[in-house]
Amino acid sequence: AKWVYTFGNGAAEGGSRMSALLGGKGANLAEMASLGLPVPPGFTITTEVCAYFYAHAQSYPPELAVEVEAALKHVEEIAGRAFGDAQRPLLVSVRSGSRASMPGMMDTVLNIGLNDATVDALAADAEDARFAYDSYRRFIQMYSSIVLGIGHHHFEELIEDFKEARELTLDTDLSAEDWQEVIRAFKAKIAEVHGHAFPQAPREQLWGAIGAVFGSWNNPRAKIYRQLHNIPESWGTAVTVQAMVFGNMGETSATGVAFTRNPSTGAKELYGEFLINAQGEDVVAGVRTPQNITEAARIGAGSSQPSMETVLPEVFSQFVAVAARLERHYRDIQDVEFTVERGKLWMLQTRAGKRTARAALRAAVEMAREGLISEAEAVRRIDPGSLDQLLHPTVAPEAERDVIATGLPASPGAATGEIVFNADEAEQLRSAGRKVILVRVETSPEDIHGMHASEGILTSRGGMTSHAAVVARGMGKPCVTGAGAIRIDSERGILSAGSATLRRGDILTIDGGTGRVMAGAIEKQQPELSGEFGVIMQWADKLRRMSVRANAETEADAEAARRFGAEGIGLCRTEHMFFEASRIRAMREMILADDERGRRAALAKLLPYQRDDFAKLFTIMSGLPVTIRLLDPPLHEFLPHTAEEIAEVAAAMNVTAEHLQHRAEELREYNPMLGFRGCRLAIAFPEIADMQARAIFEGAIEAKRKTGVAPEPEIMVPLVAMKAEFDAVKAIIDRCAEAVTAATGETIAYTVGTMIELPRAALAAGEIAESAEFFSFGTNDLTQTALGISRDDAGTFLGVYIAKGLVARDPFTTIDQQGVGELVEIATERGRKTRPSLKLGICGEHGGDPASIGFFEKAGLDYISCSPFRVPIARLAAAQATI
Ligand code: ADP
Ligand code: MG
Ligand code: MG
Repeated sequence: AKWVYTFGNGAAEGGSRMSALLGGKGANLAEMASLGLPVPPGFTITTEVCAYFYAHAQSYPPELAVEVEAALKHVEEIAGRAFGDAQRPLLVSVRSGSRASMPGMMDTVLNIGLNDATVDALAADAEDARFAYDSYRRFIQMYSSIVLGIGHHHFEELIEDFKEARELTLDTDLSAEDWQEVIRAFKAKIAEVHGHAFPQAPREQLWGAIGAVFGSWNNPRAKIYRQLHNIPESWGTAVTVQAMVFGNMGETSATGVAFTRNPSTGAKELYGEFLINAQGEDVVAGVRTPQNITEAARIGAGSSQPSMETVLPEVFSQFVAVAARLERHYRDIQDVEFTVERGKLWMLQTRAGKRTARAALRAAVEMAREGLISEAEAVRRIDPGSLDQLLHPTVAPEAERDVIATGLPASPGAATGEIVFNADEAEQLRSAGRKVILVRVETSPEDIHGMHASEGILTSRGGMTSHAAVVARGMGKPCVTGAGAIRIDSERGILSAGSATLRRGDILTIDGGTGRVMAGAIEKQQPELSGEFGVIMQWADKLRRMSVRANAETEADAEAARRFGAEGIGLCRTEHMFFEASRIRAMREMILADDERGRRAALAKLLPYQRDDFAKLFTIMSGLPVTIRLLDPPLHEFLPHTAEEIAEVAAAMNVTAEHLQHRAEELREYNPMLGFRGCRLAIAFPEIADMQARAIFEGAIEAKRKTGVAPEPEIMVPLVAMKAEFDAVKAIIDRCAEAVTAATGETIAYTVGTMIELPRAALAAGEIAESAEFFSFGTNDLTQTALGISRDDAGTFLGVYIAKGLVARDPFTTIDQQGVGELVEIATERGRKTRPSLKLGICGEHGGDPASIGFFEKAGLDYISCSPFRVPIARLAAAQATI
């Protein structure tokens, strides 16, 4: 195998298509080099070496050393410098980079090759000795911490001691000679803590760093990040070794990051930040507040610090051209890292820019209109799950608010929660069901779990590209960064801004769209679904084959469903219509009745409610299909629990509390999920199905009278395992239809179908389809029964399965294609064979999961049904499934 790929000087062995082998960073550096862009020369050690490394007790393929030497030679030739040379030393960075972007999760070591000899050459070269010794001491700190595992604090203490002794306050007050003295102290400290001297040999440094970067693939924060983002452990990281360029060589040197379009709004404007005389992570670390790149952005931000456009105009115009070139080449928003060394621009990274959902929509629509991409490509580009962000509420414009500070609008959406000051606390409160806002000076990769647990994130320091901002956008969480007016005292649990003082646990609202920080809970408003969102939805609707319905039973849900573009109701869970106080009493009377007469009396009370509910649903859905499922849940869910409730029901039924208590005991089940529910209820108590069918037909007649549009209800029989069960219930429904027609003179067109949610039903689908006119896959129960896993109890072990890699994803979120999916395929095939016109849908939670929707498209279902708020996501995912 070839383990090493070089790039530089207008040529490269790799390219952007090789990101699996070279990592995203390495592949795109190679691509940029091939495009002739200014990229410091370097080489990438492949992810296959990473796999080898972990499979062979952290050792390398035997040929690797030779390949690295040859590649290093190549870099030396292009750079005109030699690694370890005391006159013209080559310094390199050793950079991590996996196939998927994992910003800041793994390690990168800069300035490798510096030692007691080369530092003098660097000093002479820079005509500024201070820069060289400052770089050297930074290198020692970075290398010691990443490679040798020596804690940062040792070095920080030494610097503090030194400053105190000399009565200096800032690091910038230290001269070249001062740093030389600090370096001597560092080296003594390393020898003491580590037991060995700091490595002076450049090659030892290089291999130390390479090993540490491969090792960082398995550091805890990288592992957590991979879990959160579904990145396989097997991918591994590549390692890129690249000639150093220096953004800290004085006032004409700089380092920065930029997006080719605004990552927050998607507007076509170069958007970025930079720092003069700085290196590496300084911009992202939020240590100094960075400057804007363009003058327009500076004015927009009201910043008094000059833009790059003003201070480095030539480099700026070259940078603008490079950015435009990259966007045209990749046909997507690019997120780039660059460094300017004494007026010369160097590109250090490019990748597809992470963006908010709003920005993704705008950029996709505009790029399609610019002719850069097709409409289908624009649709394909939008992550369906990310639309959730747009469906997030914002602060109502007229709402009363107490703005205590304003920061940068780093990730949109408004969020309200209790103030917490650290990630662990956020996680604890979240698991107790509380909503929190994580407040930090700045965040680091160690805070990821807390950010995940929070409604939103607020920082007092850092820019639009700070860690907090980037991660929050990726998670779709509201975030405000750099709210400089806020003082945070996390020890005492106090946040103050001007005259306002808030404490841990106080309620705070942040608006990531405007950057406002507000005390208390603020009223929110629902988002606008027009604009680019509407355009993408339109394009998606043209592409998709499956129709999209919603699961809804209330008026509010049905209206939301239509607003979000649902083409009918795929599941109306009638039991949800009984939970209201006045209805549940009648429901309890029905369940606890001793005989049919008692049940009929109670059902007579429920009938008008049901009829009215259905009439309303049919009216809202005006002519669109509505699937109504007969009563399904285990009866015990409705039973009275408290003594008070029992007494109330007993009084209404004219029986004693003891009698009722006894009847309730009789109904208790060991395993209600597999108990007396679904069609079993209708078979034991036909009068229940009869009442529901009557309510449906009479409701339909009422809706028709009101709107002139005749509904065609689809009546669904739940939890069928055998054809005989289905036939028994269908007979009740058909008889009821005849009776209603006889009484009213109205005929109603309706169909009767079943939910396929038991493995036996899937296998017997051919037979069931002889009488069933449609199937709707109830994938929640089908998953429970196929896997033999109770969803309500899965929490204790399913997490372990996922953590240990036994299953890739929670089967209740993304359909288990191999098992449950095959049952769906079998039922589809057998059902259609019997009845070619059989209508097929899915109404489990998987109906709103993009990965599962891809499967349902392949399985050939006619529609998917999901909760109203996921309808846009399902529409988009259904379109993508066809591309
Ligand atoms: P990450 O994946 O965490 O972003 P990088 O490998 O991109 O890590 O390195 C972080 C930063 O270090 C870069 O943004 C860049 O500023 C700096 N850097 C890396 N390599 C070099 C180099 N060869 N010359 C100058 N700066 C570098
Ligand atoms: Mg970084
Ligand atoms: Mg980077």
